[in-house]
Amino acid sequence: MHDCIFCRIAAGEIPAKVVFEDDDVLAFEDLNPQTPVHTLLIPKQHFESIGDDIPEALLGKLFSKVREVARIKGVDERGFRVIVNSGEDGRQTVHHLHIHILGGATMPIGMGPAD
Ligand code: AMP
Ligand code: ZN
Repeated sequence: MHDCIFCRIAAGEIPAKVVFEDDDVLAFEDLNPQTPVHTLLIPKQHFESIGDDIPEALLGKLFSKVREVARIKGVDERGFRVIVNSGEDGRQTVHHLHIHILGGATMPIGMGPAD
């Protein structure tokens, strides 16, 4: 297996606090949470980023599971923010597609560029 930390989490080789799992996707707690709820949702299959050629069925499944994660984490009613960083300008640091699900606090206004 190539050396990808999220592939290794998906394979159970690196421990993670699992929130939700099925055959295709895995949700687990971010190691360095930015908000009270900060969960990552990944496809188990390796794709570098949202810019990859990803089967639509898998994309649909991933986004439908955002709702499931929000429900499990108890942020479905108050709301939450979903972020998918991609590439250098997007400040992606782990190059295995992942969806951040952030909640439990009111998010800052705006999503503009860094200073
Ligand atoms: P990004 O900047 O969008 O690539 O986000 C990568 C995220 O992965 C960061 O929020 C990290 O805290 C998180 N992360 C890195 N390694 C681990 C790990 N072993 N378990 C859980 N989260 C991780
Ligand atoms: Zn990977």
